[in-house]
Amino acid sequence: MSDAVNRPAGMPDPVVAPINEGMWRAAAAGRLDVQRCASCGAHRYPPTDGCYRCGSVRWDWSTLPGTGTVYSYIWVPDRTRTGTPEAPAVYNVAVVTLEGTEGDPARILSNVIDAWSPDDLHVGDRVALAPVGFGDGDDLALPCFRMLS
Ligand SMILES: [Zn+2]
Repeated sequence: MSDAVNRPAGMPDPVVAPINEGMWRAAAAGRLDVQRCASCGAHRYPPTDGCYRCGSVRWDWSTLPGTGTVYSYIWVPDRTRTGTPEAPAVYNVAVVTLEGTEGDPARILSNVIDAWSPDDLHVGDRVALAPVGFGDGDDLALPCFRMLS
């Protein structure tokens, strides 16, 4: 198993802001934190100022188990790598339904970083948090995922 990460080189870092900084810091610490409405309990991703369900602006971070299920995905040509006709260089953009949010599921747009070819990834596959650091230090990370076999 390779330690390589299937994300294109040179992707821009996300903008760190008060509304999302806790999520990046939690991922760097190995946790999957998403917003949870302090009024109605709805989990929210991506972070927003107001609740999509009740409109409340009161929220806290909620630590989820860090596992999930592939809800949908696409494969995108990775123009930073050279592939072959038999094995084109591609990366995936996946929508993952987060465990711990059943009933009103939160889904995250991410990458499954150890899936390298279309045969590797299917709707319903189980995945787990695999943080990918960004920025200058080691205190911020993207909540990416890896396959659970
Ligand atoms: Zn709410």
